[in-house]
Amino acid sequence: MIDVERIRRDFPILGREVYGKPLVYLDNAATTQKPQCVIDAISEAYCNENANVHRGIHFLSQQATDMMEAAREKVRQFIGAGSTEEIIFTRGTTESINLLASSFAQAFLKEGDEVIISGMEHHSNIVPWQIQAGKLGFTLKIIPVTDLGELDLDAFSSLLSPKTKLVSITHVSNVLGTVNPVSRIISLAHSHGIPVAVDGAQSVPHIKVNVQELGADFYAFSGHKIYGPTGIGVLYGRKELLEQMPPYQGGGEMIKRVTFEKTTYNELPYKFEAGTPDYVGSIALASALDYVQSVGMDEIARYESELCSYALGRLNDIPGMRIIGNAPERSAVISFLVGNIHPSDMGTLLDRLGIAVRTGHHCAEPLMDRMGIPGTVRASFSFYNTRAEVDSLVSGIERVRAMF
Ligand code: PLP
Repeated sequence: MIDVERIRRDFPILGREVYGKPLVYLDNAATTQKPQCVIDAISEAYCNENANVHRGIHFLSQQATDMMEAAREKVRQFIGAGSTEEIIFTRGTTESINLLASSFAQAFLKEGDEVIISGMEHHSNIVPWQIQAGKLGFTLKIIPVTDLGELDLDAFSSLLSPKTKLVSITHVSNVLGTVNPVSRIISLAHSHGIPVAVDGAQSVPHIKVNVQELGADFYAFSGHKIYGPTGIGVLYGRKELLEQMPPYQGGGEMIKRVTFEKTTYNELPYKFEAGTPDYVGSIALASALDYVQSVGMDEIARYESELCSYALGRLNDIPGMRIIGNAPERSAVISFLVGNIHPSDMGTLLDRLGIAVRTGHHCAEPLMDRMGIPGTVRASFSFYNTRAEVDSLVSGIERVRAMF
């Protein structure tokens, strides 16, 4: 059982006020707040363990290297990967997908090929593919989204063809909250011999993910969305694919030997980690993963699912409420519109009441076009949010409604 009051005390920022009102932080899909242990891990690393990794024989460098590699092992275990060679540290989901798109495209894609993405992707799982498609001449195919906010799997099946070289889809939509049936999507793609990449930015913080059980070939997520620091993220990739892919960036650490005539590349995962990595970020990410594991991923999923059902029930009672995304399988993100109130008016007025929500297109403009709306108000929850905070949101919306 989650003791939410005890958990809230682990997050110093949750105790603060904005505009003289207690902060109600419902923007967790954008970034999560940090527990004290993560803040301490960063401070501790700079106070006691700071030295550049992988290059020094001196004590501190070795210690920092060991801690970063222990963090890699922690990530491996957290997402159920087979080997630390398959865990690449990046700056976040965006960089993970850019790395993947650039390197996978160079290795495996040519004119006439097709990559399938979906109509509910974040821009970071659209634009990197468009950039590569522009260079190499392959085509993007889009899985349509239904009115309920689910992927149309029949349409997906009919998109698969011998031209398809990769499927890249989000596990959980950052707008609709839909949890996509990635296992089924992966099985279907694999039955045609097609690898699948999964954007896990909104799944890893909320549900237990095991990349091997899912069968994912690539899986990306961001540290800052799972209570870790900004500037650190992960790309998991299956070793046999990563081995065939060229480096993304050149520089220190990613090489074995450099001459002016020829350079040979380092082993996995270092081939993809050019330059000084954010080793402090990876150490603090490991601390965040320890923290969520100490709460329990199953407990987190259960608590957030109950909180989300409660919020949906209360929000649906508000006259003029339109929830965008009503898939039965959903995570802790709720997008909505109320009557004719513009999302940014709603967001600005809620902010004055101390309630932090996000408004706009949420980096998913094609999805907004599909739904025929300019944007939404989005409340996104964490296991540190409470029913009382949902009640504050509901009464805040009622107040705004009364003003219009
Ligand atoms: N993918 C999804 C589904 C997201 O929600 C986000 C961020 O909101 C991203 C990718 C990009 O993550 P980041 O900005 O941490 O790279």
